Amino acid sequence: MEVKKPDFWKNDKLYYDLKSYWRNLFGATVYKLPVDAGFTCPNRDGSKGSDGCSYCDGRGSQLRQNGILPPITQQIEAGKNFYRLRTNAESFIAYFQTFTNTYAPVSVLKSLYDEALSCEKVIGLSIGTRPDCVDEKKISLIADYAAQNHIWVEYGIQSMKEETLKATGRGHGVAEFVDAVEKTARRNILICAHIIIGLPNESREDMLHTARSLAALPIDGIKIHSLLALQGTPLGEAYLQGGLPLLTLAEYATIVSDVLEVLPSHMVIQRLTADGYKDIFLAPAWARNKLTVINAIERELSQRNSFQGKKAKG
Ligand code: SF4
Repeated sequence: MEVKKPDFWKNDKLYYDLKSYWRNLFGATVYKLPVDAGFTCPNRDGSKGSDGCSYCDGRGSQLRQNGILPPITQQIEAGKNFYRLRTNAESFIAYFQTFTNTYAPVSVLKSLYDEALSCEKVIGLSIGTRPDCVDEKKISLIADYAAQNHIWVEYGIQSMKEETLKATGRGHGVAEFVDAVEKTARRNILICAHIIIGLPNESREDMLHTARSLAALPIDGIKIHSLLALQGTPLGEAYLQGGLPLLTLAEYATIVSDVLEVLPSHMVIQRLTADGYKDIFLAPAWARNKLTVINAIERELSQRNSFQGKKAKG
């Protein structure tokens, strides 16, 4: 019998995208509003390292680059006005995006998260962080919000290959990620993992290993990024010196399709390519155009007569 894409997606895509997930859950259009709450990162402030991960530009949000950060409420209201004028967004998620958004004492986190959730039409939070920057107290705080609101924790992992984590200078290993995911999932908080396709010295099989490992964990969503060579990063420098092999668009679309096939159908695909970074972008040229990349992935899946989860276990 032919396997068909799941009906519960209620979309015309070959994967379960975030917009459809939110529309199905809330019956409304929901948008994420990026917030820079002024956090730093232990991989930059010297406590774990000071050079950062090899692909990270370390500049923070545009607001931070411009000077003094406006209060969270002001950032959220500006974001709401932007989306209201351009879309039919009815509800918003405050996305604590810049650097490590659990890297502060619980009392500080509480006041920042409270402020975001007190804004009208903000129905939840998405908190980007590192797996080594959560503990039971922080997870408990986030779990309290999750009882009443729509709450995600987004963990950067990038690869489930230990050697890659070491080579990129992440400053934590696979075990810390798995531990953080299990602790977070036990408290009914939604989890999104970030991965990069095309990191140095990773084979197609390594990237599939990452996908299969994530598929086996209680993870609800994933962001898939292509490796970008950016000015001012160690990998950008390697690229300029001719020492950074990058994937072609066809290779990227092939590997992302492989990855999607093994991820479970309930896992929400929050992102399929990196974008932004226009002022420091070096390569690969194809990654400049997000739509071209998404179309290439959809074409590849369609040619295979495949979709997310077609080869997932269980
Ligand atoms: S953990 Fe995140 S913010 Fe910190 S250096 Fe790595 S990529 Fe940059």
